[in-house]
Amino acid sequence: MTDYTFVIEQTGDTSVLRTSNLQPTVPVGQEVLIRHTAVGVNFIDIYHRSGLYALPLPFRPGVEGVGVIEAVGTDVTRFKVGDRVGYCSGVFGGYATTNLVDAERLILLPDFISDETAAACLLKGLTAAYLLTRTFVVGDKHTLLWHAAAGGVGLIACQWAGQLGARVIGTTGSEEKGALAIQRGCSDVIFYRHEPVAERVKEITAGRGVDVVYDSVGKDTFAASLDALAPLGMMVSFGNASGAVPDVSPLLLMQKGSLFLTRPTLSHYAPDQHALQALADSLFAAIHKGWITVDIGQRFALREAAKAQQELANRNTIGSTILLP
Ligand code: NDP
Repeated sequence: MTDYTFVIEQTGDTSVLRTSNLQPTVPVGQEVLIRHTAVGVNFIDIYHRSGLYALPLPFRPGVEGVGVIEAVGTDVTRFKVGDRVGYCSGVFGGYATTNLVDAERLILLPDFISDETAAACLLKGLTAAYLLTRTFVVGDKHTLLWHAAAGGVGLIACQWAGQLGARVIGTTGSEEKGALAIQRGCSDVIFYRHEPVAERVKEITAGRGVDVVYDSVGKDTFAASLDALAPLGMMVSFGNASGAVPDVSPLLLMQKGSLFLTRPTLSHYAPDQHALQALADSLFAAIHKGWITVDIGQRFALREAAKAQQELANRNTIGSTILLP
């Protein structure tokens, strides 16, 4: 069968996701050629496709892939033909049967992580790892609020935070999602479509508020997230599923309790191969210890990438979504 890739020539709705045949390629220098066995779908793919995060056009969508190395460039020493690898940072072209990837962006996969699990947890799990262990060092004295707790990042992170000893309050958009969030480590769930988030957090925490809010929903939740924090709490704004957060005045942070605000992204926490592999190894160890179950709620054929993105954008997904070439 001919290899193919998705290409985006102009930003817009899911109809801009078109396929194009790939010509046979030979990796040069530091490149490796990967034949994908599973591909991760992430909310950032929607920001790229819609134009919220501007990329030069045309571009090949998809930032996360898993597969087997078919060929290596002459400068590649750390990886060889046949290795099972994945990537989730600093690479495009994941929505394809094969991809040429800089070896510096590769993560070696242990035997106990299946290809599907890897595609479901690399970007989402590495994000959970740095957010919980570096952006704010979560421990057993902390109570945290995690928005979209039954999403891909959310389910992994809530389990991990619970294992670190924290009390985890999740928000979800439906009762079905709420039930899974409780099963995966949340002590309490707030149905944020009809419950007032800050008031409910204050009730649950006996008026104190939480130490840290992890907010990937953005525009719709930002204000309530600040109100849910205890004095000196940290607001971690790490996504924009409902739209970008408007400008914030530093004075607001003073008025709400001398709060801290950060807007992190994975690439700054894992700038090179060593850092990526170290974060990935911490994720794999957490999975191996049984701390984390990776929930794959949706599997689509690669050709159905547009449908997969539509389901994610429509809030119809639970856990991770993967594409199968
Ligand atoms: P999710 O599986 O979490 O899907 C997004 C979820 O957000 C939805 O299922 C929905 O859950 C909730 N949501 C709330 N409002 C909206 C809305 N208006 N439109 C769509 N969804 C909404 O996606 P991912 O796990 O892929 O990513 C989660 C977030 O993490 C994204 O914002 C992503 O950009 C961010 N991210 C950030 C990274 C970083 O380093 N900064 C790295 C990776 C991801 P519900 O129905 O329960 O409301």
